[in-house]
Amino acid sequence: MLMSTTTSPAMTSARAMELEDQFGAHNYHPLPVVLSRGQGVHLWDLEGKRYYDFLSAYSAMNLGHSHPRMINALIEQAQKLTLTSRAFYNDQLGPYEELVTKLFGFDKVLPMNSGAEAVETALKLCRKWGYEKKGIPSDQAKIVVCANNFHGRTISIISMSTDPDSRTNFGPFTPGFIVIPYNDTEALSDALKDPTVAGFLVEPMQGEAGVIVPDAGYLSVCHSICKQNNVLFIADEIQTGLARTGKMLACDHDGVHPDILILGKALSGGMIPVSAVLANDAIMLCIKPGEHGSTYGGNPLAARLAIEALTLLQEENLADHSAKLGAILLNGLRQIPSDRITAIRGKGLLCAITIAPKDGKTAWDVCLALKDNGLLAKPTHGDIIRFAPPLVITEEEMMDCLSIIQKTILSF
Ligand SMILES: *Cc1c(COP(=O)(O)O)cnc(C)c1O
Repeated sequence: MLMSTTTSPAMTSARAMELEDQFGAHNYHPLPVVLSRGQGVHLWDLEGKRYYDFLSAYSAMNLGHSHPRMINALIEQAQKLTLTSRAFYNDQLGPYEELVTKLFGFDKVLPMNSGAEAVETALKLCRKWGYEKKGIPSDQAKIVVCANNFHGRTISIISMSTDPDSRTNFGPFTPGFIVIPYNDTEALSDALKDPTVAGFLVEPMQGEAGVIVPDAGYLSVCHSICKQNNVLFIADEIQTGLARTGKMLACDHDGVHPDILILGKALSGGMIPVSAVLANDAIMLCIKPGEHGSTYGGNPLAARLAIEALTLLQEENLADHSAKLGAILLNGLRQIPSDRITAIRGKGLLCAITIAPKDGKTAWDVCLALKDNGLLAKPTHGDIIRFAPPLVITEEEMMDCLSIIQKTILSF
């Protein structure tokens, strides 16, 4: 009989990493730390060492780990009803749909699971609107996207990527995308001269590209260019939304209300994958019964968790808290007396620093040292380290984290 290795009391970090390496696909390159418990801003490894979580599962853990209200919602709903499919109604979906649409000011929501599925949904919705409302000739619709975007991993989504790692040997690609530079309103104006353009898909801040913050007003100028050309402005707020950047949505910094809004990651409070596409009736009702969907999309467990997560983000005032603690973080980073840090940027609690490589030591080595000193962060694109703790972090904890970061960087 085979013994279960995962439940064996002899489980160690070394063993857990060995198992993942041997039996799991090598599509990730994790930091060498094996986590087994989380609470608030903290994570613990198998040996009991405590860390600050400065990644928050790429901003999915905005409410922190094991929030008691999220755990209760998860348990209560799981004991009652988890999945019905959309062949029937369920008692949680309607109340969730009312809450999320009223909160963000849209007529309708289309519930999905992963972020990539929500982006796919937005692309399909935009194309359908392009043909049925804008009158684009069939199969001609185009969607404008930005260089260095990150919108997920499906074939259509990587078809609009400019990252060689995401694309190489995954072709043939989905046609119908036009790539323009990010933070370039003139390039958008030029691209929209093409009357077959149906939409402009943009991240209000580019998270995966290394926390790239566009100029103030960029989004509002883009939004009006789209309006002038009868093109849908589609905001991918999967990473930037839900209080991460100091406002409920990053678009709020520019006072922009997108035509299509995409949410994910933190929408379920970090419990299960929950994503959403929001739009008004003139757009959303272009999709009719049987034309799009997902077995798990809008399941009662997801709906219940999303209600709880959205309620907690508001009750705990996490947008304002993120703005305040983000300012403390940026200010503290700027005061670190080291010429290894060549750039510091961000908004709210979505920040990043750029580390100049020296003596063969890179951002990866800095992250390993941060880990040894009790703080978990991950390098992105070689020399950039993103700092994105759970939004529930206190001022005292932030000062502690800043001293860990300072001590670590000065040791290089
Ligand atoms: C993470 C992310 C996605 C993809 O979400 P998944 O749930 O990983 O599919 C899409 N867009 C942005 C901006 C993201 O940060």
